[in-house]
Amino acid sequence: MTAPQRARYFFFLSPYAGMAFTRCPECDAKTKQRKLPLVVHVEPHTICVLNKTCRFCPACELVIARQSEIEPLLLGMLGDQRGAIERSDYTPIGTLDREDWRDGQREQRSPAEVMEQTWLFKDHWKFEITGGWQLADHRPPE
Ligand SMILES: [Zn+2]
Repeated sequence: MTAPQRARYFFFLSPYAGMAFTRCPECDAKTKQRKLPLVVHVEPHTICVLNKTCRFCPACELVIARQSEIEPLLLGMLGDQRGAIERSDYTPIGTLDREDWRDGQREQRSPAEVMEQTWLFKDHWKFEITGGWQLADHRPPE
């Protein structure tokens, strides 16, 4: 029996390149900047960890990252393996503790080891502009 995968934070991957999300789309409180080791699954079976500054709402435990920032970072990490990356190619799945991320920088980790250390997101939220921000659904992005 393996232990159930631990989970923390909700996640919103924003397709709106021009939106800074200095306020939380859920509760309208001011968000903070937080640098998080973001674990991203890239099809078919690559795990990338991006040390990425995200917006964070402590009250909602909501992490917000922008597609327009994540995609160049992924391409940079994947190097020549890929000429382009599309939204359907990758899924941010969770975060690492900072010390686990630092250790991983010193010595190579297998994807399985990274997954063991990953805090999965509790859920993926999706917001859309409809006059104000609306929570579109609570299902993971397809
Ligand atoms: Zn909030």
